[in-house]
Amino acid sequence: MMNDERVLIAGAGPVGLTAAANLVRAGVPVTVFEAGGDLSTESRASTFHPPTLDMLDALGAAAPLIAQGLTAPKFQYRTMRHGILAQFDFGAIADATAHPYRVQCEQSRLTRILYEHLRGQPGFELAFNSAVEQVGQDADGVTATIKCGGQTETRTGRYLIGADGARSDVRRSLGIDFEGFTWPDRFLVVSTPFDFYKVIEGLDPVSYVADPQRWRFLLQIPGLWRGMFPVTADESDELALTPAFAQSLMATVVPGISNYEIAHTTLYRVHQRVAKTMRLGRAFLIGDAAHINNPLGGMGMNGGIHDAINLTARIADAWHGREPESELDLFDRERRLVTLEYIQQYTIQNKRNLESDGVAFKASLEAIAADPQRTRDYLMRVSMIASLARAKELGATPP
Ligand SMILES: Cc1cc2nc3c(=O)[nH]c(=O)nc-3n(C[C@H](O)[C@H](O)[C@H](O)COP(=O)(O)OP(=O)(O)OC[C@H]3O[C@@H](n4cnc5c(N)ncnc54)[C@H](O)[C@@H]3O)c2cc1C
Repeated sequence: MMNDERVLIAGAGPVGLTAAANLVRAGVPVTVFEAGGDLSTESRASTFHPPTLDMLDALGAAAPLIAQGLTAPKFQYRTMRHGILAQFDFGAIADATAHPYRVQCEQSRLTRILYEHLRGQPGFELAFNSAVEQVGQDADGVTATIKCGGQTETRTGRYLIGADGARSDVRRSLGIDFEGFTWPDRFLVVSTPFDFYKVIEGLDPVSYVADPQRWRFLLQIPGLWRGMFPVTADESDELALTPAFAQSLMATVVPGISNYEIAHTTLYRVHQRVAKTMRLGRAFLIGDAAHINNPLGGMGMNGGIHDAINLTARIADAWHGREPESELDLFDRERRLVTLEYIQQYTIQNKRNLESDGVAFKASLEAIAADPQRTRDYLMRVSMIASLARAKELGATPP
């Protein structure tokens, strides 16, 4: 098979474009195929964790993201009954990261920052309206069948990265199972310009409220607050998408305040799934194509960006002959195990904690907050720094 000497990437989401930026920076030519006619504007991830900001900094993308976003060094847990259960400040791990805070900014800002940075660079190509439908490979390279405005084209490359989201056509074409489950409840996100600081004392820009009937999560992004709520299995999608339903959930946030100005309402199905493998020969899966989880803790896109950096650093090493191709196996070993051991478990635990009456959760948070070492360990986990250290450890241990 003749192959164009480049890496093919399916999907120009935050994860695919991070992979492209890290490869182009390392002198590896890239073509990105994006099914949509433009970069997505969908309102989804809005939290960038400290080590993700450290990685994006190396790509020149952290400073513009911080400038467009909102810096949140603190977060808190509450219940309506107990008030604040605990508050944490990433300042306690300032020695472990150059960015001891979360940045709250929509993922569509990052994709635009990365695209602006990559546009016009030699070795970078992005084709819109180009959906990768099939993937083939042999010992020398990969073939992608691309559907482009009613026509079908074939493109070749040395490797292919599937960053084409949860419904990944690359994953389907490779025949890789997406193991896990779908929660019966869905999540409703309601955005409002209402200023909650005026009415909730001691509010942090990230605030989780545990409640066995209807937990919630308030998160500030520039110009808006987002409220996230569960929609139970017996509440239909039609009901959940009515303005009255969104207003009824928002009315539970601060007793006595209702009739909010609502900017957006979005309903999401929530899953916990991990691909059976993240590498099949010359083809790889990263981001939502490889794993999906509930958004409590903000780990989906962040974990995907960590996949992208891990994989593309290894591809660059193999490309330039610095490491043998067999080292690419470490990508699957490190990232898949960390996703299972850490991201899946942590996000499921987060959901369980918020669904509780808060009594045991309060006791456990108080014990963590009272002990500086436990606070540090906790912040290392929440910030995902611990997951990256664990990935390194897995890479250094023979299977
Ligand atoms: C309500 C909500 C809140 C969230 N909050 C957070 C958060 O705060 N922090 C966090 O880390 N994560 C969060 N997430 C998860 C986060 O949104 C995803 O993990 C993230 O979008 C994954 O990025 P991606 O690039 O892998 O996939 P996507 O963002 O889905 O991008 C995939 C791209 O591939 C394109 N595509 C699809 N099929 C093809 C094809 N066949 N060929 C070519 N292109 C294709 C799509 O058009 C799209 O542009 C949240 C999710 C939800 C639903």
